[in-house]
Amino acid sequence: MSTFLDVPSLVIAASIAGACVSASHLLIWNAIRNEISVLIWSIAYGLMTISMIMLGLRGYIPGGLSIIASNAMLLLASGLIWLGYRRFIGKSATCDRFFVPLGATIWLAFACDGRLFADINFRTYLVSTIQFFYLLVLIVQLVRECRKEPLPALNLTVVVIAFQQAMLATRVISLFFFPFDPTAATLPNGVLISLTLIGSTAVVIVSGLLQMALVAQRSERRFRIAAETDELTGLANRRYFLSEILPRLADRPSQGALALFDLDHFKHINDTHGHLAGDRTLSEFARILTEVAPQDAITARVGGEEFAVFLPDATTDTAASLAERIRLLTHSCRLDTIKGELRVTVSGGVASVADVGSDYETLHNAADFALYKAKSEGRNRVIIHRPDPFTAQLGFSRLDDHAGWPASAAV
Ligand code: GH3
Ligand code: MG
Ligand code: MG
Repeated sequence: MSTFLDVPSLVIAASIAGACVSASHLLIWNAIRNEISVLIWSIAYGLMTISMIMLGLRGYIPGGLSIIASNAMLLLASGLIWLGYRRFIGKSATCDRFFVPLGATIWLAFACDGRLFADINFRTYLVSTIQFFYLLVLIVQLVRECRKEPLPALNLTVVVIAFQQAMLATRVISLFFFPFDPTAATLPNGVLISLTLIGSTAVVIVSGLLQMALVAQRSERRFRIAAETDELTGLANRRYFLSEILPRLADRPSQGALALFDLDHFKHINDTHGHLAGDRTLSEFARILTEVAPQDAITARVGGEEFAVFLPDATTDTAASLAERIRLLTHSCRLDTIKGELRVTVSGGVASVADVGSDYETLHNAADFALYKAKSEGRNRVIIHRPDPFTAQLGFSRLDDHAGWPASAAV
């Protein structure tokens, strides 16, 4: 047992693990410079490695280096690891620069008290408590972040931090029952310190791997979102819209309605107010769509000034009411531009699965025909595709022709 858990060998193993993680993070940071947290983690693991080497040389180098400097570096590394995660989740505050060296500063302050400091048990309590505190602050922040940015490695990181905290708590509790010899000049030997070193090495390796996974998962997620999102409006693009709607129609072939919208005379808006004002108009319309559409709706910009909303649970009537609301809100919208006030109207076409079936092309064509009719009848109106019950041919009804719907303000 004592050969297997040989402390100097474990210190060497822990140092090598820390150095490898530090070097690999540095290489990654060199390749993707936009993720500063990777550089911060690299520095932290570098410090941790130096601290570990100095700790291993206890008895061979002065105590000032092997005890005071070594533990100060370890605590500074804990602060930097916290800072790395904080930058990773996009948080930053002036107090960060004080919080990072706080643990090391408290340690150095206690180092001035020779009596307390001479006892290795007290030193271990102090360092473990400070490390525990850093991890506590970190875990609270990461748990909150897990909900905002769903990265699988973030959940695992929380588990590893909880494991680290359990390790630190176990170490402190065990010291009460099996204290180190306070007079020993060299590094203590024994199961407790050996297990601590093995646990710390495992945590360094697993945390390092998880940090790499975090960076990779975030970049994959950002690329995926960018490929699915319209940059100007933040809505889904046509590709994502289709990839979402087709499986839904296949799963529930009897439900849903589609509303298509096309801003009226948009070319004229561009020509009169400028392209940038046109862009703002598109964003404003997207905002109206997002505000009005229910949670389960799939809302997308499917063309230049063309938008689509698929409502999975809507009937023709509920979809028509929603489309009409969107039209009215758009009609009442005003934008200030350097060329004066900008007003915009929108035309809409609605078709439902219940009326035309679950084939997307047929559904889209029906809504598009209705939209075309809204345009040809004078714009700023919503037209609903209605199958003719007698001839079974396509038929349309204007929204304000149909009893029960809000009167259209179509002009
Ligand atoms: P209608 O009422 O018949 O729909 O007429 P319209 O002028 O809206 O339709 P048309 O298809 O003739 O013109 C659409 C214009 O939309 C032309 C194009 O320059 C503009 N457009 C497309 N994408 C963008 C964009 O991202 N930003 C801006 N500002 N304009 C865009
Ligand atoms: Mg158009
Ligand atoms: Mg248009």
